[in-house]
Parts: sequence; structure tokens; C-alpha cells
Amino acid sequence: MQAISAIFLELSQPKKIVITMHQKPDGDAMGSTLGLYHILKQLGHEAIVISPTNWTNFLDWMPGIKQVMDYERNTEVANELIKEADWIFCLDFNTLNRTKKMEPALLEAKGQRILIDHHREPQTEVFAYGISDTGKSSTAEMVYDFIVAAGYASMINEEVAECIYTGVMTDSGSFRFPSTSANVHRLVAFLKDKGLKHSKVHEAIYDNFSETRLRFIGNVLLNRMQVFYEYNTALIAIPQSDLLKYDIKTGDTEGLVNYPLSIEGIKMAAIIIDRGEERKCSFRSKGEVDVNTFARKYFGGGGHFNAAGGQTTDSLDVAVEHFIAAMKENKDILATYQF
Ligand code: 5GP
Ligand code: MN
Repeated sequence: MQAISAIFLELSQPKKIVITMHQKPDGDAMGSTLGLYHILKQLGHEAIVISPTNWTNFLDWMPGIKQVMDYERNTEVANELIKEADWIFCLDFNTLNRTKKMEPALLEAKGQRILIDHHREPQTEVFAYGISDTGKSSTAEMVYDFIVAAGYASMINEEVAECIYTGVMTDSGSFRFPSTSANVHRLVAFLKDKGLKHSKVHEAIYDNFSETRLRFIGNVLLNRMQVFYEYNTALIAIPQSDLLKYDIKTGDTEGLVNYPLSIEGIKMAAIIIDRGEERKCSFRSKGEVDVNTFARKYFGGGGHFNAAGGQTTDSLDVAVEHFIAAMKENKDILATYQF
């Protein structure tokens, strides 16, 4: 993988460009791809964002989202676009299998794959150009850096600002995680100067849920959470029947895994959700607990040091037992709690 600066000069020549992200895109995946999309359109490229799957409806207000293609619903057209593309920007994922059913089309594509991402251990051999930086708050921050470094900061308007801000805000836990650097705050100041209305974005993302979702959270915290104080760990396990009862949609469970971390002393939080076809897991931690390695070792996943995910085909009960056994195996790191 060559440095991404190698493509700066070519950005001024119109190309066919596909921009994609990981399946079930979150605020950062959608924010970074759409932010880049608006700039590439301004530069005169034929650009399209293709999402490997559908996405959570709390992102539906985002500028440009109506033009995003869902690969699962438009597979044939999307395959043709991928085949024809000169460049394929791959944002907010480290390995092509994070695009699920899109992976073969991406691998077969003749165009050059370009990576912009902040996850650990990227599959660098499949990208012609790229940048990977695990120190970055979000891929949206990296897209901002890319636009500025390429000399197009003046093209950042209010819609680009909203997209970038969405990615940075959601991935930095609203500017509280350690990755929220001085660069992030300078970026926000720059976006504000470009007309960003940050309260509007915050409300669109965080104050847009249904009543049933709030009642679902109440049920989860009351009935589905176990706290293992000896291990400074908490686990939430959600059966599929809860998802059906409360009519829970893609994205409605996002952020739930963070709740147990607000209990005094809790260092690691996990959630296992029975999605029917698989059990999806998320892990979050504080300080020196490395959930990237934990997710990789026990749940076939990965991510970042303090936020990772994985999945299993085991039943929910078996997955819970597997988690508890893994937690016990890591007692040394989990049980010694210090600030
Ligand atoms: P989440 O728990 O919100 O799904 O994901 C947390 C972080 O871990 C995200 O950065 C996400 O991209 C990454 N992640 C989630 N699930 C997986 C997975 O199955 N494999 C890998 N490699 N990373 C994952
Ligand atoms: Mn991200």
C-alpha cells in the first residue's frame, strides 16, 4: 500500500469512483463516506456511495444519504459500478470481509482500492494506496485531514461539515474518548466557521428514537444485565424475543454496550445480541483492558483497543458461557483495578 498522498495530483482529473464502508454502517462509516462523496462530486468525479447493507434510520437525515446505494437491494447495478470504477475508496474498515457479500466484487475489481481507516491490523496487501492510523478518533477525521492535505479545505461547506461532524462525534463518544485530540477540536472549530450547526446534528442522532426503544433499554438494564464485580466486568445478553417484542431495528442497539461502563469500577462491558442468523457481540473497555485482542481471540472479531466487536454462530446461552469462561481466563488484568 502506497501513501495516500500519491493520489493528490490525480484528484483533479474526473474519474469513476465508488466509495464504500463496513456493513451496517454507523455514524462514522456514513459520515466519512458522505463527506468524501460531496467533495469528489464538487471536483467533477462520477462518484457513488455503496453500502454493503442497510443502515440505521437515525442517519437518514444526512446530506446525500438518499443517493447511497444498498448493495443487497441493488446487487447487479452495484456490481457493475464496482467493476467499472477507476477508484474504490474503502472507508472505516480494515479487512474486505467487513463488507460481507460485497467482498468478492471488491476483490475482483480492476480499479485501485484506496484505504482510509483507523482500525488495527489493516489488510494492506489489498490496497494500492491508503492511510491507516489507529490514533485517529474516527475515519471522518481522517477524511477531513485528507481533504485539507490535498488542498481542498475551501470546498468544505455546511453539508460536508455535517457529515464529518457526525463521524467524529459518534466515534469519539461525543468528544470524550482519549482519541479526542487537539486536532479534533481544531477540526470542529474549522467546521463551525464553515457554518456547522452542531446542536442540530447532535439532536438528529441522539434525540430521534421511538418510545419503544427507550422502554427496550429499560428492560435491558433491568433484566438482561449481569455485573461481575470480582472481574470489574458487566455483560448484557439480549434474546431475539426482546428484539421482536420491542420492534428493534438496525442501529437501535447501538451504544447500549456503553451503559455498564458508567457503573463505578466497571472496566469491561460486553453485549451479545441474538440476531437470529448469528449472535453479534460488542466489547468496550476503559484504560489498559485490550478488547481488540479479546474480540479477536474469543469471538472472531476485532476493532480498536477500547472498542471492538465480533460474532458467533453458537446459541446465546453458549455464547454467554463462552464469554464468562473468557472473562475468567483474563482475571489477572480484569481484577486488578486501578486508576
Ligand atoms: P461495534 O461494537 O460498535 O459493532 O464495533 C466496535 C468496533 O469494532 C468498530 O470499530 C467496528 O468496526 C469493530 N468491529 C465490530 N465488529 C467487528 C468484527 O466482527 N470484526 C472486526 N474485525 N471488527 C469489528
Ligand atoms: Mn470509525
